[in-house]
Amino acid sequence: MLKIISFDMDGTLVSSRYVESVWLERMPELYAARYDLELEEAKERVYDEYMTVGSGRLEWYDLMYWLAYFDIDETRESLMNRYLDRIEVYPEVEETLQMLSEYDLVVTSNGARAFVEIEMDGIEHHFVALFSTTSDFKKVKGSPEAYFDLCSHLGARPEEVVHIGDHRYFDYEVPMEAGLRAFYLDRERMESGPDVVHDLREAAERILGM
Ligand SMILES: [Mg+2]
Repeated sequence: MLKIISFDMDGTLVSSRYVESVWLERMPELYAARYDLELEEAKERVYDEYMTVGSGRLEWYDLMYWLAYFDIDETRESLMNRYLDRIEVYPEVEETLQMLSEYDLVVTSNGARAFVEIEMDGIEHHFVALFSTTSDFKKVKGSPEAYFDLCSHLGARPEEVVHIGDHRYFDYEVPMEAGLRAFYLDRERMESGPDVVHDLREAAERILGM
């Protein structure tokens, strides 16, 4: 019996434009200024450093870690507040969340809690809880334990929860392994199948038909 619907954040409810502006645009600009480099050179170095850590580790998601690691004198807040106008909620989100309002809706993101809270602005009233697995559980969604923690916080059994997100491994394979139901959101429309949806409205229709 399905009770709870869990959504990934970036690439699922909101586009990645905001987080990419912070991580891929502004951080290299600050790095270039700090070390007196051309922007292209700074980008290469910063991206290399990110990749050395990789998205499977907690540090990847931790802006404070990177500001300290690069020795950049900028607060997390000023960096995060700079691009608020680039937060883009996908057009079908409002309608989808209304369609699913009989369920408890939650957000489950790898992104740091500060990011998730900022990006939720305007849609937060639809959700009963929001979880940053890296801030709240100290786990990346790459391990089933992150989803076990989610279920235990929700007081739900894994089979009572469906998770939807745009990362095939973090948002589909891992939650399935943890015993949840899951849909892979493929906004690029490269794949199809019973567990693949191309926008959130399609996910809502599948869920309501379950
Ligand atoms: Mg995502």
